[in-house]
Amino acid sequence: MKKIANLLLLLLLLAGSSLFAQDKPIKNVILMIPDGASLSVVSAARWYQRYNHPEISQLNMDPYLCGTILTYSSNAPIGDSAPTTSCYMTGYPSRAGFVATYPPADPGNDILPMDPDRAYQPLITFMEAARLVRGKSTGLVFTCEFPHATPADCAAHSYDRDNYSWIAPQMVHNGVDVVIGGGVKILTPPLKEYLEKEGCRVFLNDIENYRAYSGAKMWALFKDKDMSYDIDRDPAKEPSLAEMTQKAIQLLSKNKNGFVLMVEGSKVDWAAHANDAATLITELIAFDKACGVAFDFAKENEETVVVVVPDHGNSGFSIGSKKCAKYSQLTKEELFGSISRIKVSADNLVEKLKNTNAFRLKEAVMELTGISLTDNEFTELMLCSDYDRSFLSEGERMQGSKLIKVVSKILDDHTCFGFTTAGHTGEEVFLANYDPRSNGFIGHHTNVELNHYLRQTLDLDTRLESLTNEYFVKHYEVFANYAYTIVNRNNVPVLEVKSKKMKLEITPNTNIVKVNNQDHKLNSVIVYVDKNNTFYLPRFLSNWLNSGKIFP
Ligand SMILES: [Zn+2]
Repeated sequence: MKKIANLLLLLLLLAGSSLFAQDKPIKNVILMIPDGASLSVVSAARWYQRYNHPEISQLNMDPYLCGTILTYSSNAPIGDSAPTTSCYMTGYPSRAGFVATYPPADPGNDILPMDPDRAYQPLITFMEAARLVRGKSTGLVFTCEFPHATPADCAAHSYDRDNYSWIAPQMVHNGVDVVIGGGVKILTPPLKEYLEKEGCRVFLNDIENYRAYSGAKMWALFKDKDMSYDIDRDPAKEPSLAEMTQKAIQLLSKNKNGFVLMVEGSKVDWAAHANDAATLITELIAFDKACGVAFDFAKENEETVVVVVPDHGNSGFSIGSKKCAKYSQLTKEELFGSISRIKVSADNLVEKLKNTNAFRLKEAVMELTGISLTDNEFTELMLCSDYDRSFLSEGERMQGSKLIKVVSKILDDHTCFGFTTAGHTGEEVFLANYDPRSNGFIGHHTNVELNHYLRQTLDLDTRLESLTNEYFVKHYEVFANYAYTIVNRNNVPVLEVKSKKMKLEITPNTNIVKVNNQDHKLNSVIVYVDKNNTFYLPRFLSNWLNSGKIFP
């Protein structure tokens, strides 16, 4: 009897220890966002890869596909990148163009009830909270320019996604440790100087030094604005998304507290907007290779959660289209052979054709796309108003279309993929998840629930709300007992506040407060909203004024 009892105890202990081993706390979170990737793009990418590499039957994300996510903006079912990833980051859906900012209420249309008193309040993001509360390093990897909506959603706050003069400085001042992506021209000299003063290495179009660097803090930007599509990329000048992901993980792993990394396949979305099927599919494959890097790290590391989720659908992409006769009987060669011979994006093909003489045009198109131009197509190209090397004179081309329009139509006509629109679509998006603990995140969920899952991985639960209430308080509440005024300095609003002991000067979109003319750094950014003439800033600043001392 005693033997059996001992055996049972041993079994219980073993079971307990294995449960414990599985459920040890999560240290790192990697969020992978293929922007605007509808599920049909994943299907096409898998077929394309199987056609070209029969030995690779799966995408890297395939073993982890596990559910769907409902994604929307606060007052409409179809969202743009700004409010959709904002919701993943903050737990609140928002309006079109809003970056990690609470939306104004739209009663009757709001999908969840919104509090009108909170309109335009910046909302702490999951990434900011992970740094502030858990001391995590943070990283952003993307192929658009850095203040573009999705990376901005993680580390900036603005009701206007297009206002880079607000968003770019916030991203620079928000303590992100590793940033790799596009936007060299947008990093102004003062912003670069600030990063370098903070001990961050900055590499601009400098792939060799970027590759050699092994420190903990880095901004590496390539190309003036967005990086090239993967199909057009020169690997000697621009790293792949997979390489960038590998690099970010390598650098961020140096923090013993762990890290949060967001990787965006930014231009899946752009290729969908352009209805450019070959580029769309190859962008998704490049993104999937980055997923492979993330999953490999997570499986080895055992303390890392990976979530793969698009922010919204785009373009109503389909394998098969009514424009092709008997399209449902097409072979894999007919569907995926023709598209595999296209070796450039439509944008890049236009640039290349602009520099190609008319007598070489047919040959060049064949070389770059495998397409044999019809006489009609050739004539249409000759008529393009921006094809200066045409056989036709400028006058004869005056009424012609632009090359991009004709080139896109030719590429589309020689393949059999469908597009219902050149904009976003409102269907739910796919979800893939790796979670080393016993319970992963499976099934159908909403964008808000995805944020709650992310919070729970790092035990943050209600901390995002409490941080928002500490770090983004209206200036007239924080400084109710003090004399304050907003002055205009070179078209920038500056908040001046005085007590008997102290004078504060506060410039928005930075983390710097001038105290009696000396700069002091905060661990969060200060946001000014012109719509309501309000600064949003940390509550503790009133304690500084009150005591005459600077403390966190
Ligand atoms: Zn998007």
